[in-house]
Amino acid sequence: MPECLFCAIVAGDIPADIVLRTDSVVAFRDIDPKAPTHILVVPTEHHSNVGELSEQAPEAAAAVLQAAAEIARMEDLAGYRLVFNTGAEAGQSVFHVHGHVLGGRSLTWPPG
Ligand code: AMP
Repeated sequence: MPECLFCAIVAGDIPADIVLRTDSVVAFRDIDPKAPTHILVVPTEHHSNVGELSEQAPEAAAAVLQAAAEIARMEDLAGYRLVFNTGAEAGQSVFHVHGHVLGGRSLTWPPG
């Protein structure tokens, strides 16, 4: 099994509630949701954070953004927030880049 949690989910070694899968991305429901819709979108290839993804695999970065928009349509969200926590100080705890698609309730600004 891969050491990376999200690589293991992509590989099917760890179960997840997968809502979308393509050759380049997998999206699954967050195990600890912070909103009625809280879905994580990850590239199938391992990259640590969104900066590295955009530099090393710009097509995969675009695929993540497109998947987020598709998920918002699938979930019938009037609006959504797409968050990439980048670095431990910003709250990143899993170092396989993932976009959080959050929606289904009114979201306040600024985030904490
Ligand atoms: P971050 O803190 O930005 O790195 O986000 C990591 C997210 O992964 C958190 O929102 C966790 O709730 C979520 N998470 C951790 N383990 C799992 C899992 N096995 N399946 C789904 N989501 C998970």
